[in-house]
Amino acid sequence: MRRFRWDNLKIAAAGVALLVILGLVLALRDNTRLISGEQLKVLMRKQLVTRVVLDEPYLYVRTARMRYKVPARGIDLAEVADRYPLEVRGSHPLAWLTALLGLLALGGGALWLLRRRQGSEPGSLVEGEPLRESASAETVAPTRSTVRFRDVAGMEDVKADLAEIIDFLRHPGKYRKLDVRLPKGVLLAGPPGVGKTWLAKAVAGEAGVPFFYQSGANIVEIYVGMGAKRVHELFQAAKRQAPAIVFIDEIDAVGKSRGEGRNDEREATLNQLLTEMDGFESGSGVIVMAATNRIEMLDPALLRPGRFDRRIHISLPDERERRAILELYLRKKPHALDLDRLAHLTVGFSPAALSTLVNEAALHALRRGSKRLEDADFEAVIEAVVSGKRKILSFSEEERRIQAVYQSAKALVATWYDVPFEKIGIVTTRLEETEREILSRGDLLARIKVRLAGPIATREVLGERYSNAAEDLARARREAQSVIFDYGMGEGMLPSQEEVESLLAELFEETAAMLRKLESARKAIEEHLLRHENIDPLQAREILRALF
Ligand code: ADP
Repeated sequence: MRRFRWDNLKIAAAGVALLVILGLVLALRDNTRLISGEQLKVLMRKQLVTRVVLDEPYLYVRTARMRYKVPARGIDLAEVADRYPLEVRGSHPLAWLTALLGLLALGGGALWLLRRRQGSEPGSLVEGEPLRESASAETVAPTRSTVRFRDVAGMEDVKADLAEIIDFLRHPGKYRKLDVRLPKGVLLAGPPGVGKTWLAKAVAGEAGVPFFYQSGANIVEIYVGMGAKRVHELFQAAKRQAPAIVFIDEIDAVGKSRGEGRNDEREATLNQLLTEMDGFESGSGVIVMAATNRIEMLDPALLRPGRFDRRIHISLPDERERRAILELYLRKKPHALDLDRLAHLTVGFSPAALSTLVNEAALHALRRGSKRLEDADFEAVIEAVVSGKRKILSFSEEERRIQAVYQSAKALVATWYDVPFEKIGIVTTRLEETEREILSRGDLLARIKVRLAGPIATREVLGERYSNAAEDLARARREAQSVIFDYGMGEGMLPSQEEVESLLAELFEETAAMLRKLESARKAIEEHLLRHENIDPLQAREILRALF
């Protein structure tokens, strides 16, 4: 009997000891939720972050209700530090307190903790998690942007374009009195990370007006069946607080071309958005800005007059712009860098990618105990950043060559036919948008040929076709359709799809023949591009004149 009790006691004691150890281990391991850099961005954009602590390898982030950690590598620490006082710790600040609490929460507490942790293993990370936290409030809660134009490097022409809108937001009364109409919607188009959101925030910051952020994917996916209602609420709130900016990120999630793959929820949301945009007069003081990296896929209804009728294309920065961006990011960092060389090395880097790069290099300098950033720090990380995970958009030598062949053909055809362009380059191309102009059939066909030139050249010169042609081909097709259907410039009495196809085939042949004839000129332009990255109409004409 007696011995039996002793055993029981021993088992109980061992059990308690085990639980104590378990509790300690669990309490000392931080049980904050692991999120990705993208999710951190969402939290920051929505201004939910209250405190950040850097304790490598993680950045610990607190919001009013939650605690998160993000792997410090691969996030833009500079951006975080710009916005929040960044505390740097050697050990987790709350480790001791947590340990104490852990001790108190022994026994059953430990088991309970165990269950909780299983639910929040990094593996089970739910993409929408941080979004959900804010879902209730953020739709209609604006933020005050602290970004200014001085924080936006390069893009001088774009900034000049937006100056009028800022003035309007500052003094809507002035415009109302004179009955001047301004665009209601500004569409920012360009690849990810080029600063579309950043720019919209800068406009809000410059004008000093509330900034209502909403992401298209968020509207449609998170609030299934409620998209339309949310859009309505969003606009109600914005009108109440006008002048204001409503910014819809990834608008393609809402405004994808209808047609294939009908989706009632999306359609209802899109219709609501169109109704809202038609519903307010331009004098109401609300400007809707939207961003997309797939303008080709947008429903044409969004682009009609009175909706997003101001379109701004933002491309990847060229060498000069990259230099300006690097300069901005390095403004407050002691360094001995050759910025010209660095700008040259980073072809294809978006501003977001450049910021990661600077950040990684700064961490590298810190690790080797230097107070100054040096070229070697960049050399050490650039390879890893570019080749490692290819998280950053950048061109390899081969891609540079492909682009050079592709864009040289485009520049050549544009110059030959006098199709206006600002510049054509390896990473950026700015064809001039013509909106209110009378164009002849010849002008229109020349434009289509410019779009076809790239894919033809890579096929002829490199013996292969590449995915970089997607946008140009889609545009060529759309423009050919306009020629036949909208402008009625076909041969037959009734426009038909067949006519579109045969027009495209004909233009394809003509362009191919012309490129074959002018191969030496194309080659010269290609060399210019490889050396200087961009070409403008004057330089292109110069090259042609020298050859013929
Ligand atoms: P997008 O909305 O086009 O995907 P973002 O606006 O989110 O890109 O830009 C990503 C980050 O890159 C911004 O948070 C900002 O720090 C930086 N950035 C982008 N463009 C610029 C710029 N022109 N000058 C300085 N920083 C920029």
